[in-house]
Amino acid sequence: MTFPPLREELRGLEPYGAPQISPELAPVQLNVNENPYGPGPEAAADVAHAVGEAVATLNRYPDREFVALRAALADYLNADGGRGITPDQVWAANGSNEVMLQLLQAFGGPGRVALSFAPTYSMYPEYARDTVTEWVVGRREADFTLDLDHARRLVAERRPSVVLLPSPNNPTGTALAPEAITALCEAAGDGVVVVDEAYGEFRRAGTPSALELLPDHRNLVVTRTMSKAFALAGARLGYLAADPAICDAVRVVRLPYHLSSVTQATALAALRHAPALLARVEELRAERDRTVTWLRGLGLDVAESDANFVLFGTFADRHAVWQGLLDRGVLIRETGPSGWLRVSVGTPDEMGQFRTALTEVLESDPNKELS
Ligand SMILES: *Cc1c(COP(=O)(O)O)cnc(C)c1O
Repeated sequence: MTFPPLREELRGLEPYGAPQISPELAPVQLNVNENPYGPGPEAAADVAHAVGEAVATLNRYPDREFVALRAALADYLNADGGRGITPDQVWAANGSNEVMLQLLQAFGGPGRVALSFAPTYSMYPEYARDTVTEWVVGRREADFTLDLDHARRLVAERRPSVVLLPSPNNPTGTALAPEAITALCEAAGDGVVVVDEAYGEFRRAGTPSALELLPDHRNLVVTRTMSKAFALAGARLGYLAADPAICDAVRVVRLPYHLSSVTQATALAALRHAPALLARVEELRAERDRTVTWLRGLGLDVAESDANFVLFGTFADRHAVWQGLLDRGVLIRETGPSGWLRVSVGTPDEMGQFRTALTEVLESDPNKELS
């Protein structure tokens, strides 16, 4: 054993995360799918007041079962596609990343398999690694939708205890068809199918939420987050809706008092302002659609997007395009299949700067031509 006594399979690994480049170097930050708008003065004042009250009793541990917050989250979900979701069907943690890690802690482990279909969210293999769960990835079609025959076959062959599927998918923006979710829930048997709706609120009109399917499948888990549409990435609050038996299983592996009183107060106050916090989502969806149209007008390939970001390409040297944008103060994300780049949807002004910068980059160097 060498010092520090890191597990063999973790040796030499870097912690996950997009490069954080300071706003002085990159004033236009379009790389981590944040909401470009803050929570606004009224919600901010109410959150500050609620946190102030929570601070007065910080000598006490928080409500371990966060009953009030679970009820408020259930109400919120029932207004966005949920059908009679009750508080005992809701669970929350410090970001939906923690929710999904808890799912792997409860349902993964040695001898078990977690499955997804690439390209998919880059954190999933890390939850699998950290819980010593075998990680298996299938493929997607060229338009990033699922090939249902392939998906069903892989589930039948590998018998995963957890299937992880973002919808809308990150990094592609593609939403899953309800038929695909139903097919996977049926194929998975007693395994759970986690539909990660981190970007659910940004879905286009006519794209349903997987919440609608919850009453039909006891093995379906839908996760959401306040990090994106709610403009609360800094608060760290993610949650799930599922059968109460799934919530009870996750309660076994959670750390005691994992959701601080400050977090609970913040989330509860923010939920009271849901309409105001979500008002900007409409603008962001419109800006997203404009961005897709503009990129297609350049002759680029652009993935269909139900999220607050757009995947576009393909470039023979995508790093050069990414760097060219950064040199002009615009930070986007070098992620997804080779040749593609992902841009988060910002304010109209930020998107204007993105368009100007990309136009210049594509004109400046014939090596950055489309591949
Ligand atoms: C951003 C994102 C999340 C949310 O993470 P939090 O931990 O809730 O901030 C979850 N899943 C995907 C695919 C994401 O892109």
